[in-house]
Amino acid sequence: MLDAFGKCRPRPDQLVAIGSETYPYYRPVTERLDDGEVVIGGRAVLMAGSNDYLALSDDPRLKAAATEALDRHGTGNSGSRLLNGSLPLHEELEAELAAFLGMEAAMVVSTGYQANLTLSALFAHQDVVYADRLVHASLMDAVRLGHARLVRYRHNDLAHLERLLKAADPRDGRLVLSEGMFSTDGDLCDVPGIARLARRHDARLILDCAHDAGLLGVGGRGAAEQLGRQAAVDVQTLTFSKCFGTLGGAVAGPRHVIDYLRHHARPAVFTASLPAGCAAAALAALRIIRTEPERRRRALAAGERLRAELAALGFGTAPGIAPAMAIPVGDTALCARMWKELLDEGVYTNAMVPPGVPEGKALIRLSVTAAHTDAQLTRIVDACTAAGRRLGLIAATQDGTAP
Ligand code: PMP
Repeated sequence: MLDAFGKCRPRPDQLVAIGSETYPYYRPVTERLDDGEVVIGGRAVLMAGSNDYLALSDDPRLKAAATEALDRHGTGNSGSRLLNGSLPLHEELEAELAAFLGMEAAMVVSTGYQANLTLSALFAHQDVVYADRLVHASLMDAVRLGHARLVRYRHNDLAHLERLLKAADPRDGRLVLSEGMFSTDGDLCDVPGIARLARRHDARLILDCAHDAGLLGVGGRGAAEQLGRQAAVDVQTLTFSKCFGTLGGAVAGPRHVIDYLRHHARPAVFTASLPAGCAAAALAALRIIRTEPERRRRALAAGERLRAELAALGFGTAPGIAPAMAIPVGDTALCARMWKELLDEGVYTNAMVPPGVPEGKALIRLSVTAAHTDAQLTRIVDACTAAGRRLGLIAATQDGTAP
């Protein structure tokens, strides 16, 4: 008989073997040092793999707000928002988020992943979801959990999306799903073009702004604001685990839609609510996002510099504006080696391998924050140069030796 756990045994062809020297996952961060360094494996390394773009997760104001809320409400709410787990803090955060985003209402949930899963309640039998081919796994999981038919359009390809929308059955509900800023390459959704198509074809536009809310646009509202089309977005999801420096997520949109989600979105109804400390930290972060635009300017400038220098070195780093970017590697085992080489150089990055990325498209994801100094950015570039040359990802020095 087939052993149902057979699938869990390591496969001989597994390239990134658990426990091996180059295994890049689940490495505990044992300590945070003051200057953006962290201790991993007993060694201080520079963190270049965190989504804390605005460097708020260690901000004293967030910590003070979280500590006070924790003292008042305890470490958990022991129930769902629907029943016993709602706090005034959740409601305050929802009201401020909705006002910030220019939406009628918002619903706070416990993670960004969950915020996207709640969308499943909008994906009913008679609906078609048109999703950008590169949207995040959590959005694909929302589609799986819902009942709508899925149609994928080529990344940011307006002509392709229009062809697909034109072929729609007029009786079907239509929803277009994209990310505001795509998390791996840091490029933006063509919000003006996609919003135009959505309007022309009676489709609702839903944007996951996990990476851009707090970072882009004059007011920090995200990619749609940056591109001048904030009002064209029907529903926006976000996470507090990136620019907001804590944990949690939210869905914002028209009041009747949010009220519907509050009662019908199983991933929100059947799970415990966001602990007070995280809600308070998110609220403090939102207020900082509104009042300290220089933080996003610093993060974007750091990203711009690193991206330009990696591209100039010949890594094939794609253009974009985000503080997150990729070094394309291709082969999974080579990607794990590159990750280890960078770690040995004292820089912590993220190795993204299939199924997180398509087969043969393994990459190193680097991200920088408002707190990275010029000297630290130079260290990251130097580490990439040395590691990239050793592994032949970029050309060696003129005399053919590694530096
Ligand atoms: N959407 C996108 C685009 C993401 O990159 C992520 C997390 N990496 C999420 C949603 C989920 O957010 P969280 O980690 O807060 O659950």
